[in-house]
Amino acid sequence: MITPEKDHALRFAIIGAGMAGILAAIKLTAAGFTDFAVYEKADRLGGTWRENTYPGISCDVPSHLYSYSFALTPEWSRRYSPGAEIQAYFERVARDHDLAPHLRFGEEVIRCDFVDGRWHLETASGHRDEVDVVIAATGVLHHPNIPDIEGLDGFEGAAFHSSRWDHEVALDGARVGVIGTGSTAVQIVGAIVERVGKLSLFQRTAQWVVQQENPAYADDERAEFRRTPALLTDLHSDLSRQFSVFARAVVDADSPEMKMLEEVCRANLEDTVRDPELRERLRPNYRAACKRLVVSPNFYEAIQHPNAELITEGIERVEPSGIRTRDGRLHELDVLVLATGFKAAAFMRPMGVTGRDGLTLEKAWADRPSAYLSVTIPGFPNFFMLNGPNGPVGNFSLIEVAELQFAYIMQLVEGLRIGEFDEISASTRALESFEAARLEAAKKTIWMTGCRSWYLDDRGVPAVWPWPFERFRAEMREPKLEDFEAR
Ligand code: NAP
Repeated sequence: MITPEKDHALRFAIIGAGMAGILAAIKLTAAGFTDFAVYEKADRLGGTWRENTYPGISCDVPSHLYSYSFALTPEWSRRYSPGAEIQAYFERVARDHDLAPHLRFGEEVIRCDFVDGRWHLETASGHRDEVDVVIAATGVLHHPNIPDIEGLDGFEGAAFHSSRWDHEVALDGARVGVIGTGSTAVQIVGAIVERVGKLSLFQRTAQWVVQQENPAYADDERAEFRRTPALLTDLHSDLSRQFSVFARAVVDADSPEMKMLEEVCRANLEDTVRDPELRERLRPNYRAACKRLVVSPNFYEAIQHPNAELITEGIERVEPSGIRTRDGRLHELDVLVLATGFKAAAFMRPMGVTGRDGLTLEKAWADRPSAYLSVTIPGFPNFFMLNGPNGPVGNFSLIEVAELQFAYIMQLVEGLRIGEFDEISASTRALESFEAARLEAAKKTIWMTGCRSWYLDDRGVPAVWPWPFERFRAEMREPKLEDFEAR
């Protein structure tokens, strides 16, 4: 393992100062690498937690799991803490680890070119850098999906995507329309239904919902965590184990765990929605967890609130004063929220990346994004991704995923540092065989049982890790050097 006393000549660029970029910066420093910059296009760190500030935002992974394993905190306010608290957590951890000298805000990397064994970076402001290793921590769900609905631009009220929430717009007493029924929309609806004059939820596809209470931690519980930090470590490991069970269920559509989960969702719908007609409109026609499972303490109650209306007629067009549905009805609105998700296949783009021998990322990903074990792309040496394509995503902690990936990457970096090789990336053969195995395994997953979701690529194949989480852990333990092309 790397010792901090040694002289490290390598220079790194980390792209993105979200959860994964902060992790990379802390871990590089801990390993004794101090020559690096973190490029962040925004003026603040935090990634998804900086961008998403919509009412009701929280992480539906318990906070004691959605924490860095090396920076567990006794201070979480709730089982699922609100987004602002998560943002403050990342800011505090970055401060505690003195990352400020490395952070370059307002610098969007627009080009990365591999020339003569080093990566040449250029930012939108014209700043240039030359580094040995690039760590792309650019996030998964980042580019808003703005629906192509006729008339949207002509809407006279306020309209915005959920990740671009306009806090200047008054909600109290307003007629608010929300398009979408994903995790985001469900959180928004639960948070604003009592404040607004009328809430119209435009549902294209019903969702299965798991009911989860969100209790606050009492002062004495937090005091106990402070006194006995081992409790936090145990809690983190216990939660991680529980989520591994879920991860095992979704990759085997026929597993008893999956059937149990479906039963839980069905019972939630039957027991919580009182009006049989509404219940049927909320009942999905596909299996639970085929789309990413929605976790909510209050969605069904919120949609049954007197202020709320569920609209299942398709949207015909947006008009200046509201939304016209296909039955001819005009739903008058003051505010229109597009909780319509993200372009999940964008990943690092539109950044231009050119690897060895002029190979561009656009060419390498002409069909669709792919990466060996989600971390490395053939022909792009010394360029590594955190939470890249085909990695584990689901209802579990992407922090744990990024930590495992980073430890794996550092083993490859160690080879660079000691001069075992100068350039390393996955071989084409290794990526092809990973892809073949991934496609085969995907057939058994719940995601392929007949629904539309952002997990699916343009062929309808899940673009995500189709095996149990334990397999990911095992793969990340140590790189198989025979799967790499080293020079
Ligand atoms: P999403 O799951 O992709 O949902 C988008 C919604 O918009 C869907 O209901 C979709 O309908 C609808 N939609 C899209 N285009 C439409 C159109 N043209 N007309 C009508 N409806 C349209 O997006 P999201 O809710 O933002 O969530 C994305 C992901 O972010 C989640 O899956 C999750 O991974 C993450 N997230 C996590 C949390 C958390 O607590 N951890 C919270 C929020 C988000 P269809 O279903 O018919 O396509």
